[in-house]
Amino acid sequence: MSLIVQKYGGTSVGDSDRIAQVAEHVARTKRHGNQVVVVVSAMGKSTDELISLAGQVSKTRPGREMDMLLTSGERISMALLCMALADLGVQANSFTGSQAGIITDCDHTKAKILEVKGDRLREALARDVVPVVAGFQGVSTSKDVTTLGRGGSDTTAVALAAALGAECCEIYTDVSGVFNADPRLVPAARKLGKVSFEEMLEIAATGGRVLALRSVEYARNHQVALHVRSSFTWEPGTWIVREDPSMEQAIVSAVTHDISQAKITVSQVPDKPGIAARLFRGLADHSINVDMIEQNTSVSGHTDISFTVPRADFALAHSVARDLSRQVEASDITADESIGMISLIGAGMKTHPAIAAQMFETLASQEINIEMISTSSIRISCVVGERDVERAVQALHESFALAR
Ligand code: ASP
Ligand code: MG
Repeated sequence: MSLIVQKYGGTSVGDSDRIAQVAEHVARTKRHGNQVVVVVSAMGKSTDELISLAGQVSKTRPGREMDMLLTSGERISMALLCMALADLGVQANSFTGSQAGIITDCDHTKAKILEVKGDRLREALARDVVPVVAGFQGVSTSKDVTTLGRGGSDTTAVALAAALGAECCEIYTDVSGVFNADPRLVPAARKLGKVSFEEMLEIAATGGRVLALRSVEYARNHQVALHVRSSFTWEPGTWIVREDPSMEQAIVSAVTHDISQAKITVSQVPDKPGIAARLFRGLADHSINVDMIEQNTSVSGHTDISFTVPRADFALAHSVARDLSRQVEASDITADESIGMISLIGAGMKTHPAIAAQMFETLASQEINIEMISTSSIRISCVVGERDVERAVQALHESFALAR
């Protein structure tokens, strides 16, 4: 008998009809001789609605109370699903994150999991009861309810799969898997059958929105095989697994894009030790996540530093950079909110040096200007104008024959 953790996202439990269908699928999985642990998200857009409600009554929105509020969304889904299962003759008990023994740090609204006890889930399984766990939440070391950050139910599911030694963790969503480009931009985008954790980490970090980045990191660190699939068609989806040296490695697996960032350039900064350190320390002190960084070779003792930040942090990052540029007597600061980042990802790139050249040639043939470039061993990313993103993704998908 194998143990499977099934996670259902917000659209999968979006209304009563969806919940009934999920209950049917859980019952079916159990009938096939498996043990099942279920993790649910809040119904539809209810987390967004709760956040907006909080914003209407409060400007400060204390983290402890936000977490108390937001965890209620998942409690609704878990109780309703257990009721639907009861009608099918499947015994199921709901558990909050705290009851499931998910222990986190005290960082409200973005807590990290420290330990997963899971005793009550094991007891339920031993009694042939299906545990249905509220996603995205836990209890802190100081006994307060916490949440794991937006999209955190994926992480709950992976953490439970690791702690309970599940055979795999199925992530049910409204798309049928991970595609090698966004199907809304590229109609010929193909569903990937299998990708490695490393590739999936790059895909998630560069704009592929199917899985939360942290859940992929957790899965890689604990070697939990993930299966992303649709709760609308129930067809097999994409497996995310450890890289297998025997498997043929695609040179390019996917092309992703991200239009959630903005670019800031500090020009003519004195080229001497400590300037970059001060700039990026200033940004880090404001918890601003910097993604790409580029510094030019200096000309007559001065250089330019460009970097990208989330658009949501743009105003703050801009003012931090402006303050610093005054202090160090940099000549100018420019900013561009309409950029897009295009990335090519593939494990086989490690041994194929011509990929970058082909990527730049493809963009050149479309008269698309590259503003910044960054690479890892299995990824090449270019910043371009936001208006060029769609054409760039389509041209690259075509150039690397990803439709086949
Ligand atoms: N309901 C939470 C959110 O929307 C957690 C999740 O869905 O994973 O962020
Ligand atoms: Mg969600």
